[in-house]
Amino acid sequence: MDRLESIKELVSSRRLKAFLVSDLKNVRYLTGFRGSSALLLVTRKEAFFFTDFRYREQARLEVKGCEVIVPEGALLRRVRRTLRRLRVHSLGFEFNAPYSLYHGLKNGFRLRAVRNMVESLRLKKEREEIRLIRTAVKRAEEAFSEIKPEIRRGVTERSVALRLEEALRRRGCQRIPFDIIVASGENAALPHASPSEKRLEPGDLVVVDWGGEAGGYFSDMTRTLLLEGPGMETKMRIYDTVLKANRSAIRAAGAGVKAADVDRAARELIERAGFGDFFGHGTGHGVGLDIHESPRISLISKDILMEGMVFTIEPGVYIPGVGGVRIEDMVCIGEKGPRVLTRLPKRLEVV
Ligand code: ZN
Ligand code: ZN
Repeated sequence: MDRLESIKELVSSRRLKAFLVSDLKNVRYLTGFRGSSALLLVTRKEAFFFTDFRYREQARLEVKGCEVIVPEGALLRRVRRTLRRLRVHSLGFEFNAPYSLYHGLKNGFRLRAVRNMVESLRLKKEREEIRLIRTAVKRAEEAFSEIKPEIRRGVTERSVALRLEEALRRRGCQRIPFDIIVASGENAALPHASPSEKRLEPGDLVVVDWGGEAGGYFSDMTRTLLLEGPGMETKMRIYDTVLKANRSAIRAAGAGVKAADVDRAARELIERAGFGDFFGHGTGHGVGLDIHESPRISLISKDILMEGMVFTIEPGVYIPGVGGVRIEDMVCIGEKGPRVLTRLPKRLEVV
């Protein structure tokens, strides 16, 4: 069914008179609009799209299925006017909306913060969305393969990150989903280290976490390399454990499976190897128009995996003073079980 029709049905089934969408990713998902200023008002029967004069032409080309309104003044004032014209006195708004939006509507309307309206639709990817995600994966993989020979002793983390970002952009990524992580040696013990001027040294584990983009959709992946040098044995053992955890979690995934059980599959393996204290984060997260979205693959997650979901599997082990390993793949739940979208090899590469 058409996305706008689905959201109208949700407005009705959640007993709302109207729903105001302010999250730009959600607006894009529902209308096709790619600009940076918009509000979307959905009633049980209609949809009204508001943007400012800069986007008049773009809205005309991109927005489908809505009445497009380009007010002279503030968008929210025009939303209020439209609501009064429709004789709507109560409405839902997104749980993560800015306070200014609440403030601008609270006099005159009964308001209800609602979670998971558009997000519940975005959870299951359509064929076209999966195609774009695959392209985002491909661009990221090609960019990495291109710069990988440059990951060697003597180069700085920052220069690797910079070259990778450039390669992503050259392959058509309009946006870089998050700051690329290149963390080596002791820095690799921090799961979210930012690239520094540190040079790669013999014996360093080098964690590279990056993502691509295509048509607004993101990809997210991590590979860890090892530089020939001291202390190889321990580091190889850590790598081997994380790789087994990654494979075990992927095997556990499937339609109808609890996300928490997928996390457990990775976590138990790491615990059994004696590294349980060094895996502090969840095993994965959904990826789509946002780099982190539902489902959450963690022990406390209540999510149940369904066909069409796309998420990461990214167990890691981080040991202060030694370094860290993370191996992150993207997985899609297909008709016949989980499909790994990431194609880059993941056996340990010693460089
Ligand atoms: Zn990542
Ligand atoms: Zn991730």
